[in-house]
Amino acid sequence: MVAFHFQFANRAGWRCEECRKNGLERKRRCGWLAGELRGERHVVWARRSVRVDECPKSLVTAESVSLVEAFAAWKLAGGGDAGGLAARTADAFCVLESELRAEMAHGTE
Ligand SMILES: [Zn+2]
Repeated sequence: MVAFHFQFANRAGWRCEECRKNGLERKRRCGWLAGELRGERHVVWARRSVRVDECPKSLVTAESVSLVEAFAAWKLAGGGDAGGLAARTADAFCVLESELRAEMAHGTE
């Protein structure tokens, strides 16, 4: 979910290296910081129904990113039978499909 929504964010503003340089990593609760060094829990980034209390850049795993990419490729190929997908992939696609539909209903402002 976060990986999906983070695609639409201004990701240029979320480079962990620059965060560190600008001293924003505590405020943004970057995952590269040890837990006790992160500030108090608060919403760091939000979009629609998604809220995170950690830097979304560090939060989103490579696996999530590749699932979102695989979903996009699958959609481009016309979707098709989800029965042949691994259960984990099918679950992810299901979530992504409903997010995508909501996205299309709302428009991308
Ligand atoms: Zn970060």
